[in-house]
Amino acid sequence: MNSSVNKVVILGGGTSGWISAALLKKIMGSTIAIELVESDDIGTIGVGEATIPPIRDLNNVLGINEADFLRETKATIKLGINFENWKSQGHSYLHGFGAAGKSLPFCPFHHLLKRANQLEDDSHLWQYDLNHLCAKAGRFAQIKSHDPIMNLPYAYHFDAGLYAKYLRKYSEKIGVIRTEGLVEHVEQCSTSGYIKSLHLKNGRVISGDLFLDCSGFKGLLIQEKLRTGYEDWSHLLQCDRAIAVPSERLEQTLPYTRSIAHTAGWQWRIPLQHRNGNGMVYSSSHCSEQQAIDTLMNNLTSKAIADPKVIKFQTGRRYQQWNKNVLAIGLSSGFLEPLESTSIHLVQSAIVRLGHLFPHHGIDSLLVDEYNKQSALEFEQIRDFLVLHYHATERTDSDFWQDMRHMKIPDSLALKIEMFKHNGRLTNTKNDLFTEHSWLQVMLGQGIVPQDYHPLANSMSDEKLAVMLRKIKEIKQEPIDKLPTHDEFLAMFCS
Ligand SMILES: Cc1cc2nc3c(=O)[nH]c(=O)nc-3n(C[C@H](O)[C@H](O)[C@H](O)COP(=O)(O)OP(=O)(O)OC[C@H]3O[C@@H](n4cnc5c(N)ncnc54)[C@H](O)[C@@H]3O)c2cc1C
Repeated sequence: MNSSVNKVVILGGGTSGWISAALLKKIMGSTIAIELVESDDIGTIGVGEATIPPIRDLNNVLGINEADFLRETKATIKLGINFENWKSQGHSYLHGFGAAGKSLPFCPFHHLLKRANQLEDDSHLWQYDLNHLCAKAGRFAQIKSHDPIMNLPYAYHFDAGLYAKYLRKYSEKIGVIRTEGLVEHVEQCSTSGYIKSLHLKNGRVISGDLFLDCSGFKGLLIQEKLRTGYEDWSHLLQCDRAIAVPSERLEQTLPYTRSIAHTAGWQWRIPLQHRNGNGMVYSSSHCSEQQAIDTLMNNLTSKAIADPKVIKFQTGRRYQQWNKNVLAIGLSSGFLEPLESTSIHLVQSAIVRLGHLFPHHGIDSLLVDEYNKQSALEFEQIRDFLVLHYHATERTDSDFWQDMRHMKIPDSLALKIEMFKHNGRLTNTKNDLFTEHSWLQVMLGQGIVPQDYHPLANSMSDEKLAVMLRKIKEIKQEPIDKLPTHDEFLAMFCS
């Protein structure tokens, strides 16, 4: 299509619709008009409350004041995810957002630690990790230091409903038009198959040049209209149901998400300022709905404040995220289960990608193909990271965990695991959302132990290595007791 793109229509006002509206308007300014259509009758999925650090880049680009954001969305700080019972029952580790220790050029820190462990030292990676130390002490502040080893990357937990409202207010202020109404009919061009307009129940017709399908799992435009198709990954990520239930807030607000593995899935606990988000993700082939509800309700640490809600999903992705003049964003584009809180990030990165490849002179197959290639790779890299958590386990106590251990994993992941096992090297795939620090923590946390270390770790004497490790530990430990507790921080910062 060679006509220029002047108007973008967004179908859906959930988290993905409003992030898309806010960010795209901020990037493109007055060069395009944006109209968002949402139906109050349908509502939103109402989950999706844990994020990863790039959300702070999103807030910075939007110029959002952090204190205002935390106050309005009842947000808390997230330093990582604590994985409990994943490797084996009773075992836990934190996948923190930071980097442990201090690396030498060409020799990442864990090689030095591996060598030290072969000598007298029995310390472990997390003792050198600021995110872990702050998380376990329940303390937080925005540490300002020029020394990169004192970085304390963080993200947020927030109330999904309040977040969408917050972004709606923001978007409308910068010129996004919001229209309430139920889309009943979608008009397509009879020759090109491009979407021309959305027909609402109240008789209004919304036309546009480019459509962002943020309509949730069903994908009203990308699937129901354009029949784009879906690559099913449920043989790799076998959980296909979630039960979600909010509960009363706890006395102490943890600065991390908890992910607790059970016999056929796992449970999340997300601390917010006014309540807790809880849920159980499970495989319906290994566990009945009632069993999952019972497991979740029996493992709440505070009183439920609503009935449990069942959500069905299928892991995978659309074959094309961009098809004709429709881009699928959010749940309509595919779904990777919430284990590493990646879905909201995928919305952000989809809009950044669209910003780079925006078809202002008309939709061009070169732009579409590039967009689809980048999106496919992003989904696959995250998929591999999630599969690692399930596959690399010592658990044998249920059919579910036996199946996880024995499933055939993607070659890309098998290679990564083998490489790490043999010599501790992590293949850093270009543009992977998860850096080698993340892969390292989950590999070690799930019990994959390298047999060897990089020869550069031998470049200092035993004594020098011991002194260096002791110093790093002391430096990282030093600020912890001086930091406010997470609750003190929230009270001070938001007041
Ligand atoms: C169990 C679970 C847990 C999750 N946890 C996390 C997490 O911790 N972190 C994370 O990053 N992500 C998480 N996610 C994903 C996250 O919830 C979604 O990415 C996010 O909420 C975006 O959803 P959405 O906006 O695409 O869809 P929805 O919230 O379903 O919104 C769809 C919108 O489309 C509109 N709509 C649909 N049909 C019509 C129509 N015919 N006419 C008009 N409007 C229409 C609806 O009104 C609504 O506004 C989780 C998902 C699940 C299932």
